[in-house]
Amino acid sequence: GLSLKTSAALYEQAKSFLPGGSTRATLFRKPHPFYVSHGEGAYIWDADGNRYLDLANNFMSLIHGHANPRIIEAVSAQLARGTCFSMSTESEIAMSAALQERAPSFERICFANTGTEAVLFALKAARAYTGRTLVAKVEGCYHGLSDFAEVSVAPEPDAWGETAPASVPYSIGAPQAVLDNVVVLPFNDLEKALSILNDVGDRLACVLVDPVPSRAGLAPAQADYLQGLRDFCTRSGALLIFDQVMSFRLAYGGVEEYFGVTPDLSCLGKIIGGGFPIGALAGRVDVMDVFNPESGRPKVFFGGTFAANPISMTAGLVALDLYGRQEVARTNALGDRLRDEMNEWMRASGIEACVTGAGSLFKFHLGRSEVRDYRSAWVDVAQRKVTADFVDALATRGFHIIPSGLGCLSTAVTPEDIDAMIAASKEALRAMH
Ligand code: PMP
Repeated sequence: GLSLKTSAALYEQAKSFLPGGSTRATLFRKPHPFYVSHGEGAYIWDADGNRYLDLANNFMSLIHGHANPRIIEAVSAQLARGTCFSMSTESEIAMSAALQERAPSFERICFANTGTEAVLFALKAARAYTGRTLVAKVEGCYHGLSDFAEVSVAPEPDAWGETAPASVPYSIGAPQAVLDNVVVLPFNDLEKALSILNDVGDRLACVLVDPVPSRAGLAPAQADYLQGLRDFCTRSGALLIFDQVMSFRLAYGGVEEYFGVTPDLSCLGKIIGGGFPIGALAGRVDVMDVFNPESGRPKVFFGGTFAANPISMTAGLVALDLYGRQEVARTNALGDRLRDEMNEWMRASGIEACVTGAGSLFKFHLGRSEVRDYRSAWVDVAQRKVTADFVDALATRGFHIIPSGLGCLSTAVTPEDIDAMIAASKEALRAMH
């Protein structure tokens, strides 16, 4: 077993200051969260000195692992020149140019501090552009913590709705007006999604979809499903928004390149910040013009004290530069190998489990041998505990993933690391079955 004495003691201290001992509910684990000391490349060391291969990478945000020398060098130079200003910086131009070059639909770009904000601004832009208020999203999908995006994030089976997915709150106290303005769609069921969409028709401002939704099982969307949503939006005048906060990494040009379907707007975040806080909204020039202040008060006000700060811009630019087509392909191939080998082995061993995902994203599901959408991925509290136990068993062997079974690779991961992860996963599963 691992010695986690220091983490346990730090958690006892933290509980006097922070609700539940931590700002981020996502870091909560029983009996206590891990406290980290430092990271280097693909590895992290906890406060007790245990080393882990980090396959969580701060929730999929560190595409090059920890303390990448080129990012450190560029950010250090910028740190010495100042961290943020009430004047524009050249770094914002360079960063937006680097993003625009990767994806044809990124005609204009605005920077925020988080993915939550990127989605918040995307919904506002869609409403202002279309003059409509309803937004559609997919059942069980996570799009950050703003009010409308939070609808139907983790519905329990008794709230699923019989004929159509229900518009149900996550946070207690969500106003009814918020629920009434969100239409919830099933994932990867185009026929049903279209029948719901056709009912709301020209009252809809946008369809928000994450093509590889982590909380809904991390099963990739079918290209036909995305294309069907695209066609509906084109017909009805609603905007198609891809939440690529997590999935941009799948291809050099992100989701539109990977699936061959073009959105009107895209939400970005995580890896594009090179390890620093970031969010971005990118899309059609005529839509993004709702933020344009050139001719007076814009339709929607975009801003933020730390938005487009030169630290995030500088780190992000280097991170993108280091994530060229070859690196994308190499990292995705390692992800394919992890998923394929595990799935084959679990099938052959008669273990009821599977690994979903795409490219360098993966999610282990215990107690499920096929996952297509939120409902087929859903498991009860007891089964969630089984997955958490598996994740703990991996930690004991020196591999860090997220307690829900979610993980990702960084470019710092080697084929040998993947072999070791496969061996440890098999060992942990064998011990449990
Ligand atoms: N959308 C998706 C698809 C995400 O995965 C996340 C973060 N996990 C967000 C939005 C929110 O991003 P942030 O945590 O930077 O606010």
